[in-house]
Amino acid sequence: MRLSRFFMPTIKETPSEAQIVSHRLMLRAGMIRQSSAGIYSWLPLGLRVLRKIEQIVREEQDAIGAQEMLMPTIQPADLWRKSERYDAYGPEMLRITDRHDRDMLYGPTNEEQVTEIFADAAKSYRDLPKMLYHIQWKFRDEVRPRFGVMRGREFFMKDAYSFDLDFEGAKRSYNKQFVAYLKTFKRMGLTAIPMKADSGPIGGDMSHEFVILADTGESEVGCHRDLLENEWLNTIDLEGDLQVVVDSFTDKYAATDDERDLDIEGSLGDDLVVARGIEVGHIFFFGTKYSKAFNAVVTGPGGDEITAEMGSYGIGVSRLVGGIIEASHDDDGIIWPESVAPFKVGLINLKVGDDECDKACEDLYRQLQDAGIEVLLDDRDARAGAKFADMDLIGLPWQVVIGPKAVEAGVVEFKNRASGDRQEISAEAAIAQLTA
Ligand code: ATP
Ligand code: MG
Repeated sequence: MRLSRFFMPTIKETPSEAQIVSHRLMLRAGMIRQSSAGIYSWLPLGLRVLRKIEQIVREEQDAIGAQEMLMPTIQPADLWRKSERYDAYGPEMLRITDRHDRDMLYGPTNEEQVTEIFADAAKSYRDLPKMLYHIQWKFRDEVRPRFGVMRGREFFMKDAYSFDLDFEGAKRSYNKQFVAYLKTFKRMGLTAIPMKADSGPIGGDMSHEFVILADTGESEVGCHRDLLENEWLNTIDLEGDLQVVVDSFTDKYAATDDERDLDIEGSLGDDLVVARGIEVGHIFFFGTKYSKAFNAVVTGPGGDEITAEMGSYGIGVSRLVGGIIEASHDDDGIIWPESVAPFKVGLINLKVGDDECDKACEDLYRQLQDAGIEVLLDDRDARAGAKFADMDLIGLPWQVVIGPKAVEAGVVEFKNRASGDRQEISAEAAIAQLTA
């Protein structure tokens, strides 16, 4: 992509409406624009990141056998009357009336919709287990939308639903999602801690929120220090036995605000970490609440009737864009982990119009593209300082700078955004490092 043509409206000044760093940087980098409170347009740069995160989530869901589908954003109110959640949900639900005066709503989640579909199709115990998911926009009319995409009203969520024959099966599905979440967040460069969370009227210990720590988190959480430290995390083989992996995490204390246990915390001494947390995912077992309401019942091997045991598993895909920035930035801007970066490398032409510089940049641009590397070429006729500032702001993992002096010396300047390390190397060596 050429920056001269790319729609990336960056802003120099700090936007006054943004209270936290990720919101400021997303506006300044031209990733999003607000449409109305808590509702955003995703501009090309922001959408590239959103899509990368979505794809990592998708791959890890597919890997555990969850099957992707797509349910609508607009749902009929009757569906929610069946589960008795239509009135219970309150003003967070956006209620709509169609031209025939039928009550509709913009879905805040999809338990009802997916259970209705499943109940209609499943007949025999052989139809289970099943895990279904979609990645779709949700709407919740939050009292206080804030912090940009972190607490929006319209937001993008992966929500998966499991259907099992018995509790043992449901626990297996839960464990699969638990480990898939560990892998998902790790691939995004995040340390997301599974924390014991409120499990509502069902009780039990099968409700975990995955939380990343950041000063701007909305609630206070407590956990064992090991859960944050690579030294301990690296001792766990995520490909190992499911229950062993889950146990090794849940054996360590970690609790969201309303689940904290001050006695345990007192006993942890220096091993206790109390910090602010951002919830990026939530997995939850709820038994037969919806399968009963929608009659998701199958015939067992002996002709008996079995009501499906269910769980649901959410990830805040759009919240993660902000969450990753909260976890990875400096004074100059964003620092993208490679796995979610909008482009892998930014190529800066310091002297547009200079034949030698233009040629060196165009050659390298083409070679990188041929090698399948996502590259953003700054071919704008602008000051070097402005180019450096924009490139640091948008946070691509690598920068290649080409100016007249470098061209003469037959080198390029190769910079790592995270460490700030710069090397003068040949264009070939830069390509080799980027394709390694
Ligand atoms: P919260 O406690 O933050 O309001 P929740 O518990 O209501 O979230 P869930 O129903 O568990 O959220 O939704 C699954 C995931 O969707 C959450 O873990 C979070 O990452 C994301 N999410 C929820 N609400 C929002 C929102 N208003 N804006 C952006 N992401 C959200
Ligand atoms: Mg939650």
